[in-house]
Amino acid sequence: FGTHNIDVLPALLRRAEHNRAAAVEIEESLKVFPSTLPTHRESAYAAWVSISVGCNNTCTFCIVPHLRGKERDRRPGDILAEVEAVASQGAIEVTLLGQNVNSYGVGFGERGAFADLLRAVGRVEGIERVRFTSPHPKDMDDKAIAVMAKYPNICKHIHLPAQSGNDRILKLMKRNYTREWYLERVAAIRRAMPDCAITSDIFCGFHDESEEDFQDTLSLMREVVYDNAFLFKYSERPGTYAAKYLIDNIPEDEKIRRLNEMIELQTQLSLESNLRDVGKTFEVLIEGFSKRSREQLFGRSQQNKVVVFDKQGYRVGQYVDVRIESATAATLIGKPVRPAEGYTPEAE
Ligand code: SF4
Repeated sequence: FGTHNIDVLPALLRRAEHNRAAAVEIEESLKVFPSTLPTHRESAYAAWVSISVGCNNTCTFCIVPHLRGKERDRRPGDILAEVEAVASQGAIEVTLLGQNVNSYGVGFGERGAFADLLRAVGRVEGIERVRFTSPHPKDMDDKAIAVMAKYPNICKHIHLPAQSGNDRILKLMKRNYTREWYLERVAAIRRAMPDCAITSDIFCGFHDESEEDFQDTLSLMREVVYDNAFLFKYSERPGTYAAKYLIDNIPEDEKIRRLNEMIELQTQLSLESNLRDVGKTFEVLIEGFSKRSREQLFGRSQQNKVVVFDKQGYRVGQYVDVRIESATAATLIGKPVRPAEGYTPEAE
């Protein structure tokens, strides 16, 4: 079976058990969102909830529309019921998932439905942090930005995949926005939420990308000053439009050189962004022990930055206010503003 009929997994398991033989069933496209599939969650305090599958965009490098088909939106009532259920089981952070979360609603003809959903999820009793990934820049509307700005429990972090900073390449990728549009959306986010972190996915070496085109990508990165970014070199995916019609014509060593330049630049930008946080205090949701020491914990700020701090009686799944004392490109390092209630150093 495939992702299109994941909803029949329990039935297929029962059939295979009964017939003592493998069961095969392949669907061309998803008919109903598998809302009733039983789920098990690893984390007691964080939950990931799907709001849609598939994608109506046709980015030429991407295999998702071919594998997952058109966007199918889950009904708002089903999503809220799942969020309420995970909240009643103790989850305090929920991340809404979809290939293109902010086009949510196109499936049932309601533009702007993502902003309404975000607001409704943020109001669910017990949910203290709402995140989502990934939005598409062309669908990043003012309504969603306004809701994010208004509700303190909607995390101030937007992962906004740019892919390239050059209009000719964006057109070849069929991304449906220009550099100018993208930068205007970034400006709108920063106007409404000056403390909002912006991260991205960017890749170099796509079909016909010249040195000049690539320099536009570097200049976009500098202009936005991304807090973090996933950086790649183009690698062709069989079955995509690009694999058929846009030859992969940038030599591998050139792609590697460009990627290394991007990584070097982003490391500087991440460090700049993190150094700006030194002296500030962030509310951190604790996720576990730091890699270096059992005396330190780590967690994430609303901006999705990793924060490492002295334990001082705190535990995983709790919130702590941490004052940042130093930073690397990857991590903020600090101390709790106050120890956990009842904490005495001797007790540890
Ligand atoms: Fe859709 Fe994202 Fe793939 Fe583009 S890159 S087709 S928006 S899933």
